[in-house]
Amino acid sequence: MSKILTIGEILVEIVATRRGNGFREAVPLIGPFPSGAPAIFIDQVGKLGQKCAIISRVGDDDFGWVNINRLTQDGVDVSGIDVLQHGTTGSAFVRYREDGGRAFVFNIRHSACGQIDLSDKSLALIDTCTHMHVMGTALYAPSVITSILTAVERIKAAGGTVSFDPNLRPEILDSPGMHEALQTVLSMTDLFMPSGEELFLFAEAKTEKDAVEELLARNIKAIVVKRGDKGASYYDDDTRIDLDSYRVEEVDPTGAGDCFGAAFVTFWLQGMNPAEVLRYANAAGARAVTRAGPMEGASTRAELDALIQAQGNG
Ligand code: ADP
Repeated sequence: MSKILTIGEILVEIVATRRGNGFREAVPLIGPFPSGAPAIFIDQVGKLGQKCAIISRVGDDDFGWVNINRLTQDGVDVSGIDVLQHGTTGSAFVRYREDGGRAFVFNIRHSACGQIDLSDKSLALIDTCTHMHVMGTALYAPSVITSILTAVERIKAAGGTVSFDPNLRPEILDSPGMHEALQTVLSMTDLFMPSGEELFLFAEAKTEKDAVEELLARNIKAIVVKRGDKGASYYDDDTRIDLDSYRVEEVDPTGAGDCFGAAFVTFWLQGMNPAEVLRYANAAGARAVTRAGPMEGASTRAELDALIQAQGNG
């Protein structure tokens, strides 16, 4: 069985219960919810029963432990999470705008997960993994970038595979070294999973069809384009598959792309055919938006089967 690895931020998310433009006024909050795009991704992988691990750092505080406990409970190997006695776990405050967009306040730049470094123990953990999933959000600090590139190179050199979800946020796009790191990761990617317009940040072409062709010509084996409540598309050299989204009530969109990606990578590595893989991913993304909190909508295989059975093939 493959073992999937990711590296990157672990934090908690605290969510405003009323919509609005940000946090320049007092507003009722709920949380802390376990979070961080790589953490949400790997939690969903674990919940599907797939072997998986995360390398990260947290402070020795409740925000760190709420994450470690959840990931452990859902089957993730957490031996690569260092608990720093003198560090703090990061947080993100999120408020949904009236138009459905999100306003964030991040406190992660100086938190424990911004200082991820690879020890001999983490290098040994990397060598037990056969697939690396890179989240663009994780490429915001120089030591994390180095750690991710090392893992990607090591896993590829051993014959493993790499998936890449750019997951870019304007708040972190200007981080030093990020642009170069995104390009380096792309050059080693087997499975590329952008959301909508992100595709065009990596290709010269101006239409989706041309951009996909351009990227597939660069050794990428498959591309999956996520489209929020409009569903998703899959491309490889021979195939294009489009699925509408499942009809669900959206409560909280955070984590949809991470759960979608986790289900896609898990079933793709298990050798399922692309149409079925996309269907499971589409179901995982849809279920993710039905619960408040980014990781709370992660699904078991039985829950995905139930949605697919209830609504058909998407
Ligand atoms: P990201 O969070 O990376 O921007 P998206 O918002 O595109 O990702 O969501 C990822 C996937 O989750 C979509 O392609 C779709 O399959 C599913 N999804 C997202 N939002 C909804 C929704 N409101 N209803 C049903 N499915 C959704």
